[in-house]
Amino acid sequence: MPTFRNLLGLLALTLAGACSSDAVPTAPTTPTGPIASTPELDVKLAAADAKDGQVDKVVHRCAGCALGMDGKAEHSVQVGGYTLHLCKPACLARYQRDAVGELTKLTIR
Ligand SMILES: [Zn+2]
Repeated sequence: MPTFRNLLGLLALTLAGACSSDAVPTAPTTPTGPIASTPELDVKLAAADAKDGQVDKVVHRCAGCALGMDGKAEHSVQVGGYTLHLCKPACLARYQRDAVGELTKLTIR
């Protein structure tokens, strides 16, 4: 005959098993393909694009630095139809995380 203690042990094992089987690790999501733009952002992207002297759908000035310095092709991110060149990995990381939010905050003078 099972004792009360044994039943408790069995219950604990069952709960622990249920818990661990629930914890399915999810792979971190990396953005693939271009980030969707909005009409407002397109206006801003067009202005940022013109800022480097060439209207070529490539924003060569680093948007992470308020277009204050040149970006690099190896730190690029796609937003809508535009390619943004960021100047350093930190700027790239910000745009990869939240390009829409960063562009919304960006002021082009
Ligand atoms: Zn930068």
